[in-house]
Amino acid sequence: MSSVNADLRYSRQALLAQLGPQGQARLRQSCVAVMGCGALGSTLATLLCRAGVGHLVLVDRDVVELSNLPRQTLYDEQDVAQAVPKAVAAQRHLAIVNSQAVLDAQVMDIAPHNVLTLLKGVDLVVDGTDNLETRYLLNDACLTTGTPWIYGGAVGTSGICCGFVPGRGPCLRCLFPELAPPGILPTCDTMGVLNTAPAIVGALQATEAMRLLVQPESWSATLVTIDLWPPSFRTFAVPRDPRCPACGLGRREFLDRQGVSEVARLCGRNAVQVTPANDLGVALSTLAQALQAQFAVELSPERLRFAVGALDVVVFADGRALVRGTTDPRVAKAIYAKYIGT
Ligand SMILES: [Zn+2]
Repeated sequence: MSSVNADLRYSRQALLAQLGPQGQARLRQSCVAVMGCGALGSTLATLLCRAGVGHLVLVDRDVVELSNLPRQTLYDEQDVAQAVPKAVAAQRHLAIVNSQAVLDAQVMDIAPHNVLTLLKGVDLVVDGTDNLETRYLLNDACLTTGTPWIYGGAVGTSGICCGFVPGRGPCLRCLFPELAPPGILPTCDTMGVLNTAPAIVGALQATEAMRLLVQPESWSATLVTIDLWPPSFRTFAVPRDPRCPACGLGRREFLDRQGVSEVARLCGRNAVQVTPANDLGVALSTLAQALQAQFAVELSPERLRFAVGALDVVVFADGRALVRGTTDPRVAKAIYAKYIGT
């Protein structure tokens, strides 16, 4: 794009005292990782890409499903029909929106063994994940690399947002020191979610991201909580807790959990994810050949898909599998062991 066109495209933003041409140049030079491309991630990736952030890393472990479409504004029915990985679908849609942006799609589960590599060259992280455990892992990783990150969450008609800069103010575990036992916190699974809640939280996170990229010196941590039905909006200054297990005592419990194979039910989904203990990955074309005698196999460079009875199985190149049509981890693990490997 010529500089004239760039000036035209961002002319309304450059008029803002908060951004101006210099702020716009900062956005263009920045690399932001969108961790999770669901509802929050759709809003985050769209707004940051359109605002002119030069480089986005789009990370997601999942494929697009019909129940995503009310909230996940990057995707369409064709993505559902083709079970496109969200990171790839996000990259395709955003490439049409802003052809100047560098868009890097990463189809993977954010895990202790890969998160530090993901953060290489990244100036800032925005949180589009759907569970507190992954957020604690991001918190550990960002404290380790010194990367700022913007936490966000939405469930029901409410939401929360807070930015964290390592060494300057609190971290996530100053706010929430320990994981709650399963079943305590409401999730989209148990409580549902209104599509405007993640849209507003994603917009707040994207604003905090731009504020940090453009005016880091004047930034300070503000916790925002919202409810939408009826509407309320509250802000709090959050102090750092010297007894915080992560930034106070220096523990990295979530980053230190390496090499554990994992079977997890997915939030809001009739599906189970099986993650292998190693990161050797799977040769999808070889696996497709082996399965073709028994199943109709659908193969793309990023994933392989086949059906076992009523169960829909999607295998990714990193070795993970999504078994859709069950919430029973034993069923998913059995399918994985039988058809993909142990
Ligand atoms: Zn802390």
